Amino acid sequence: MEQTHTLVIGGGQAGIAMSEHLGAQGIPHLVLERARIAERWRSERWDSLVANGPAWHDRFPNMEFSCGGEDFADKDAVADYFVDYAARIGAPIRCGVEVTRVTQLSGRAGFRAETSAGAIEAQAIVAATGPFQRPVIPPIVPADAPVMQLHSNAYRNPAQLPEGAVLVVGAGSSGVQIAEELMRAGRQVYLSVGPHDRPPRRYRGRDFVWWLGVLGMWNAETPGPGTEHVTIAVSGADGGKTVEFRALANRGMTLVGMTEGCQDGVMHFAPDLAGNLRKGDENYLSVLDEADAYITENGLDLPPEPQARMIPPDPACVTDPLRTLDLAQAGVSTILWATGYALDYGWLDVDSFDDRGRPIHQRGVSKVPGVYFVGLPWQSRRGSSFIWGVWHDAKFIADQIAIRRGYMAYHDAVPPIAESA
Ligand SMILES: Cc1cc2nc3c(=O)[nH]c(=O)nc-3n(C[C@H](O)[C@H](O)[C@H](O)COP(=O)(O)OP(=O)(O)OC[C@H]3O[C@@H](n4cnc5c(N)ncnc54)[C@H](O)[C@@H]3O)c2cc1C
Repeated sequence: MEQTHTLVIGGGQAGIAMSEHLGAQGIPHLVLERARIAERWRSERWDSLVANGPAWHDRFPNMEFSCGGEDFADKDAVADYFVDYAARIGAPIRCGVEVTRVTQLSGRAGFRAETSAGAIEAQAIVAATGPFQRPVIPPIVPADAPVMQLHSNAYRNPAQLPEGAVLVVGAGSSGVQIAEELMRAGRQVYLSVGPHDRPPRRYRGRDFVWWLGVLGMWNAETPGPGTEHVTIAVSGADGGKTVEFRALANRGMTLVGMTEGCQDGVMHFAPDLAGNLRKGDENYLSVLDEADAYITENGLDLPPEPQARMIPPDPACVTDPLRTLDLAQAGVSTILWATGYALDYGWLDVDSFDDRGRPIHQRGVSKVPGVYFVGLPWQSRRGSSFIWGVWHDAKFIADQIAIRRGYMAYHDAVPPIAESA
């Protein structure tokens, strides 16, 4: 039986960061990846995707991207970055090995992992299988409806879709970027817009990732009350620009409210479009306000940008919104669901999940001793699922593993206690 101290499952950014910190602690470990390093950046993202943050920010501390720091690395450059990083730190990664089941050993400490290449025993398990594991399509349109339905993780480029109009459901970073790409390719696009944050891409000469950093917003420990389901709409496309829904409408996109249902081929939308845009504006303006206050308080010499506060008037599709859309009449051939992801730990057979299958943990330390998570959304802070943030969470988890290993080493080192008379 092969043995290691810590078995890391998943060879994306989270698994690689884990390997770096475990290596630094001298902890024997193995990373198992079912496909290739950073596979999701290679094959579960659309062709033209670039990172949402500039390369100086969206990276690990110890290595820069080969592109310019202000550039937005394309998805293959991001995947290549992690391949290079893994080689640089000599990460013990085995690719093409899927973990199918992990169980706790009985009568002794540790875990047994069943894999596509045999069983392995380990003292600690780190689940690094991603914040976005299983694409979620809400059960709104029957699967046999005469329209192509696909999730954003299966979208590659406009040519992949049948001729015709497209309804994009979800206006977070994925939905809004894909919708714009489809409109540019000549498609009639309907974009269903729910609650969202819409930070300015740049303000007064600094990217929003910098503002979130200096304002302490990346370190927020939980989403604000009532904002758990608020998505964030940002884009690094075209060199990075603020998401402007009204500008997209003025160029021909039809914005609609939240998608509520579908009956006899007719989509139904909530009457919430104007309200969602207004709340997005409030979020946008609040970042400008906080940035202005920070500049004043800290005496920074950054140029004023009053034009950033100009919000264009609502276009007709907002003042007089569509509440229904007959898919056939509108020539909609595709519904693209940019509706997010769920977690799926079906392979991890330990008692550390709530009744919705979500890990029960504290900063990634599970309630089952020896089991850890890394890369979860909001694992310790807002930045946890992002490239720069996971590195710091992985460091914390490696520390926790080292501390526990120290207790076990003490137990092994001290003489056995004689039975009391
Ligand atoms: C469209 C999109 C764009 C994003 N853009 C950015 C961005 O610009 N900047 C940023 O910081 N973040 C971005 N993110 C967020 C985050 O950086 C990515 O989601 C990233 O892929 C998460 O890395 P990870 O290592 O935690 O998980 P993943 O990349 O999901 O890696 C998990 C790995 O585990 C493997 N795996 C899963 N199950 C098993 C198993 N049972 N056995 C073995 N291996 C397994 C998978 O094959 C996968 O390679 C983006 C996310 C999305 C969806």
